[in-house]
Amino acid sequence: MADSTVVTQCIICNTTIKLRKCQGCHVVSYCGRDHQAYDWGLHKMICKCLKKLQVDLHREEQRLRSLPGDGIRPEFHSGPIESLFEEAQEYARFWEIPETQEYMTICHAMVQGLLEIKTLEAVQEAQRHCTFMIWVNPPDDLDIRDIVVPLYIRLGAIQRCYDELKWCAEEGSDPLYDWGCPRETMQHIEANRDILEDVNDFLREYVSLSLKVAVTLIKVTVLLQVQSLRNAAILSKRLPQEIVDCVGRQAVNRDVLKRKEIVDSECHESVIKKLEMQIRIMYVAVKRDSPQVWSELLKPRQHIPKYVSARQKYRNEPESVQAVVRYNYFSWIETPGALEVIKDLAQHFDTR
Ligand SMILES: [Zn+2]
Ligand SMILES: [Zn+2]
Repeated sequence: MADSTVVTQCIICNTTIKLRKCQGCHVVSYCGRDHQAYDWGLHKMICKCLKKLQVDLHREEQRLRSLPGDGIRPEFHSGPIESLFEEAQEYARFWEIPETQEYMTICHAMVQGLLEIKTLEAVQEAQRHCTFMIWVNPPDDLDIRDIVVPLYIRLGAIQRCYDELKWCAEEGSDPLYDWGCPRETMQHIEANRDILEDVNDFLREYVSLSLKVAVTLIKVTVLLQVQSLRNAAILSKRLPQEIVDCVGRQAVNRDVLKRKEIVDSECHESVIKKLEMQIRIMYVAVKRDSPQVWSELLKPRQHIPKYVSARQKYRNEPESVQAVVRYNYFSWIETPGALEVIKDLAQHFDTR
């Protein structure tokens, strides 16, 4: 498992021992009753909202499971189908079937609610719902990939995230992509793509703004990690090797350590130069698509922007800056040093 950048802890005092989960939403933990009571005023509204959505989602799933399958697309069935829920899953086009749209709408609202909570459990739960929504509807009419990709980054699954992004850039986001047999396609996404390669594929017009922002963060994350390895290598000339290894590796995501060029200190300077150039290219590309995204992301804020429901989202074609910031904000602030890289670029480009 990859290193996670978010951990399970009491949301008030950050302790990680003897935790108990909130029995309403199950995605916030406390060290005891005192801190739970202290947080309730703030947590109450979102907790009740999530609890209601959990009930609604369960009821909707039961309803769909009680409806018989009607053989919508017999060619996609591998065996006998018991309910519409199962049939729609096999067909892998939930959004296309009117009966299953309500399920997707509730699921979408649930994910949006979970994004409001900054705990490991909430991130994992949001990722689980997103993964299911993509699984039952790979053509992704609701742009769930825009939401799930930054969640992978928050969970430290950098390589997995990059593989998904690369596939979107090469195939999945292409409006002309043939979704003939979606389930098979999803099982053949290539793994372990080269995280250091150029960013040209991500400059395509159909790659969403949210995914462009996410790939920028991946490049920034790798840059920061190579910089920290380089610094450890410089230190090693003065300190015992065991201490240097410890300092260097602690800061580095295991996904990134797999690559030879990243661990080999001979390559550090050239890898750093290459990544800086790629980040610059992505920065400019995002700014060209939307002049406000970076400045919105850099604004100090207490809460992420409000969300739009699945149906609103489906009707409004253009991706709003608010949504992009909403989906990506936490992944950036949870990566120490990442926003500083953007701040420097903003200064460089805005004062020219
Ligand atoms: Zn506590
Ligand atoms: Zn709760």
